[in-house]
Amino acid sequence: MTSRIGIDLGGTKTEAIALDATGREVFRKRVATPRGDYQGTLNTIKALVDEAGEGTVGVGIPGALSHATGLVKNANSTWLIGKPLQQDLERALGREVRIANDANCFALSEATDGAAAGAEVVFGVILGTGVGGGIVVRGRIVEGANSIAGEWGHNPLPLPRAEDMPLRPCYCGRAGCIETYLSGPALERDGGEPALDLYCERLARALAGVINLLDPDVIVLGGGVSNIARLYDQVPKLWPRYVFSDHIATRLLPPRHGDSSGVRGAAWLWKQKSKTYP
Ligand SMILES: [Zn+2]
Repeated sequence: MTSRIGIDLGGTKTEAIALDATGREVFRKRVATPRGDYQGTLNTIKALVDEAGEGTVGVGIPGALSHATGLVKNANSTWLIGKPLQQDLERALGREVRIANDANCFALSEATDGAAAGAEVVFGVILGTGVGGGIVVRGRIVEGANSIAGEWGHNPLPLPRAEDMPLRPCYCGRAGCIETYLSGPALERDGGEPALDLYCERLARALAGVINLLDPDVIVLGGGVSNIARLYDQVPKLWPRYVFSDHIATRLLPPRHGDSSGVRGAAWLWKQKSKTYP
């Protein structure tokens, strides 16, 4: 039985796993990402795949492939931007490769055999160095017309209050982006633990906008901030005042696979019948 190989291409670490047909992990290795070195990145992935053996290959990247050009865009690992990563990898590996945004891989992992298994509509959120999101409907990633579905971190924080002002500048060139309030570094700058009430209030406002638009069955949190247990109790108590519904069935859950969800979701890219939904 052929295995499913997943690669999580991170800014500092590149991880590979292989899953057998039942989802059991049969191989795992983590190496340093050759930062700033595109050819080195290709070589690193090839070496990992060679070691993992036969199987399908899915790759999660901090960015997306542009539908317009097929090239990488929106990557904070900037040496990937503008590169034909899919073609170069397929040539190097001699097999077809599926590539998806890392937050999409996280959502796919948790929707496939994680915290949101069996849920119809899943919103996966990364609250880490950055803030990203991914949408999975009936087991498939929703990529969207611009390959940015779920990119909620660069929406403005809703209903800014005095304590949210002045709107914080974001690296994307805008101000007041959700990421500038809800990333791990933002929580640290706000004072960490003592600022948690404020953090929960902001997260409730930001997620209420997602519920009103997408109405997911489950929202799964990932990234470093998702380890804070209080979020799962406090945020659903705060979001009713912003959600346009008398009752809210949406569940807010911690990830089952934690840090491994990115690489597991990359492997699961080949569980989908086609690359994108539908
Ligand atoms: Zn931004």
